[in-house]
Amino acid sequence: MTAMLGVLGGGQLGNYFVLAAKSMGYQTAVLDPDPHAPAGVNADIHIVAPFDDLDALNQLVSLCSAVTVEFENPPVTALEHLAQHVIVRPSASAVAIAQHRRAEKQFCQSIGLSVAPYEVLETQDDAARITSNGVAQTHLDPLSTPLIMKTSRNGYDGKGQQIVQQLSDTMEHWNLLGNVPCIVEQKIALDAEFSVIISRGEDGEIALFNPTQNVHVGGILDISTAPAQLDVQLLEEGQLAATNIAEKLDYIGVLAVEFFVSRNKLFVNELAPRPHNSGHWTLDAARTSQFEQQVRALVGKPLGDPSMTCSAVAMVNLLGDRWTHGEPRYELADSQTSAHVHLYGKKTARPGRKMGHLTFTGDTVDAAANDAVSLRTAITR
Ligand code: ATP
Ligand code: MG
Repeated sequence: MTAMLGVLGGGQLGNYFVLAAKSMGYQTAVLDPDPHAPAGVNADIHIVAPFDDLDALNQLVSLCSAVTVEFENPPVTALEHLAQHVIVRPSASAVAIAQHRRAEKQFCQSIGLSVAPYEVLETQDDAARITSNGVAQTHLDPLSTPLIMKTSRNGYDGKGQQIVQQLSDTMEHWNLLGNVPCIVEQKIALDAEFSVIISRGEDGEIALFNPTQNVHVGGILDISTAPAQLDVQLLEEGQLAATNIAEKLDYIGVLAVEFFVSRNKLFVNELAPRPHNSGHWTLDAARTSQFEQQVRALVGKPLGDPSMTCSAVAMVNLLGDRWTHGEPRYELADSQTSAHVHLYGKKTARPGRKMGHLTFTGDTVDAAANDAVSLRTAITR
């Protein structure tokens, strides 16, 4: 019988995992509480239940030989439970670090990597102290406003974040974020952002995709281009940092590391223990996609060739905001042989919701980026 692979989470990333696994001859089971989750349509089995539902987890155990994740926030206890019975990659301990901003920053610092200066706001008292005394009273680097306050857990696409313009407003922002543990970090003067997506196999083999340059708008990824057009030394530093992170975590699977570049210095922003939006171009412009690497690492196969199949590629996201005047005019992309439009099959478009993306390949990054942006404008005008 064909082996079945499981994935916690049924969003677009889970769906691409399912499709990659299918094309490699595996069956798949998805656990996601949303009956309309995109991956549910293509998976052989969709278990509709909360991520901490013990019966559902045991069902996965009985069906699957190995389980992975498509997002960083499944309960660590669920992963630990699964790991007692089946292969779980990445490990619960690696996911635990990536799902908590403080743990993530402390881990990066512990292996010698720089992160934006930050302070931990674990309790209301911490927030109150900063509000009345200023951050200088606390123990880390002196911080100056503006700061970004981020919830320690469950943030994505810029959600769970507040800009703090004045230290005296700290308490107000803490309340707006729901009185939960947070970090405040220095708002860095960004010269650029890039990500490194690394795959690490069960024997420690490493494969790196081309570093990808990213532009965010309103905290949400807008455009990714590869190869990143940044200082080669900085990119190599990023690749070394990602390798170091993966090795220190004894990571098996696909890991994305987001970097900030400021005044020629590198800061780790965050880790995603899974394929990443900024790696979607690998579906159309790499010899092996990030999702195929995820399957390969999960089942213990050698990793595929991550190299690009063209000189340059750009990926732009299609957010729900562009659905305001109806469904985009996809037919306008038909004649563009270097373009690929991807839709995630989500029923309802909401502002900021990722509905799909499109990629454009080209001879240069500038040409690919211009073409991708123009095509997006044309189909969603
Ligand atoms: P996602 O998980 O979708 O990447 P997120 O909600 O975890 O997003 P972050 O990665 O923390 O959010 O931030 C989103 C974007 O906001 C960053 O890529 C960057 O453009 C901007 N940003 C976040 N923190 C800082 C900072 N300290 N200084 C400058 N810009 C920042
Ligand atoms: Mg991010």
